[in-house]
Amino acid sequence: MEIERDTFWNISSDAQIVFYILAGMSIIAFLYGFYRRYRLWNKGQREKVEWKHVKDNIGYFFQFAIRQTKVQKDRMPGVMHKLVAYGFIVLFIGTVLVFIDEDFKIPILQGGFYLVYELVLDLFGIAFLVGLAGFLLIRGGNFRKRLLRGKMDYLFLILLFVIGVGGYIAEGIRLSETKVDYAHWSPVGYVLSLLFNESRVFKGDTYLFWWLTHSILAFILIAITPFTKLFHLFTAPLNLLLSPVKRSGDFQVESAMKDGTQRRRNVSHIYDFTNLQLLSTDACTECGRCDHVCPANLSGKDLAPRNIVMKIRDNMQENGPISSFISAEELKQCTSCGACVEACPVSINHIDLILSMRRGALPDKLLNPHAGEAMVNLEQDENIWGAPWSEREDWAKGLNIPVLRDTENPRKEA
Ligand code: SF4
Ligand code: SF4
Repeated sequence: MEIERDTFWNISSDAQIVFYILAGMSIIAFLYGFYRRYRLWNKGQREKVEWKHVKDNIGYFFQFAIRQTKVQKDRMPGVMHKLVAYGFIVLFIGTVLVFIDEDFKIPILQGGFYLVYELVLDLFGIAFLVGLAGFLLIRGGNFRKRLLRGKMDYLFLILLFVIGVGGYIAEGIRLSETKVDYAHWSPVGYVLSLLFNESRVFKGDTYLFWWLTHSILAFILIAITPFTKLFHLFTAPLNLLLSPVKRSGDFQVESAMKDGTQRRRNVSHIYDFTNLQLLSTDACTECGRCDHVCPANLSGKDLAPRNIVMKIRDNMQENGPISSFISAEELKQCTSCGACVEACPVSINHIDLILSMRRGALPDKLLNPHAGEAMVNLEQDENIWGAPWSEREDWAKGLNIPVLRDTENPRKEA
């Protein structure tokens, strides 16, 4: 028996046409969604992508995206994330190979390679499903308070899970009908094929329904990705590679712009952010790790770094004033401690975003106007009262305040 993949087993040519039309539509929707966000990033100030940063970032990319070291700090969700991410990547590569084999007529999926391919995809598919089930359990059981529990958060996980299960069902039916002697190379599909032998629901006649349902759900997933938080699958790696990684305490005040100039990071309206800052907000996975370590947030203040990032992301459609969606209080409450930056698995720099907004949106609200005046007086006359320098001690007259220079041992007096 020849060993090769029969991608369209038991699928009529009409159904194949429907498949390709739907595939084309989902890819167009994906590309449109990607382009839409790309256009919005570029409405920001055009920061220059420094290739030396990209070179430095390759190490961080390996550390944070491939080894997922930051995600692993929280053990249980970290393991689940690894299973889902690695499973997804392998299944994605597997789909690309099918595409090359079937549509470019380059025969890759044959012989021994095809058997190993089936085995690897089956095992990583199981890892993918276990990871998703774990995520659903952690979220549903509220085992991590930092995780959001909206309807959409569950819907994405369930959609991915159903797509994964649908793939196994289609495989199980195919193997139970074709009875190829290498079926055991797909262990999960093989076990299902044995269970399906006597089934009336999972058989050759219903294969089209299961196969098409699986395909349509996968196309829906592709189409909605750039419009949902799943977009981080693409933007997080981009951000990790392109954004200059700054350690805590490194407060960058200026950016090198594409036109060769330096620009102060002052943000009063949304498009005052640079394109890389806007891109970084699209990388947010909404994991809440930043909130979980933020001292302001933990002490019950309004500031939640995740909200700051999400509000910028969700208000990117038009050049609205920052004050219309982020309050002065939130910005003032940040202590610039950097805990959020250290915790963020996708290298979002919250301090950079917050300080840029403080500089641009709040200079008048951060300082009491009298304090600003005092600073100017101090700079000009070395007297905060705005009087000549020689009168700067007059305010203390009659108050019996000791003056250090008049004492014999100023250090002791102090
Ligand atoms: S830098 Fe600001 S936002 Fe980030 S953890 Fe510290 S206080 Fe919170
Ligand atoms: S900003 Fe980073 S740490 Fe915070 S929720 Fe988004 S991805 Fe998670």
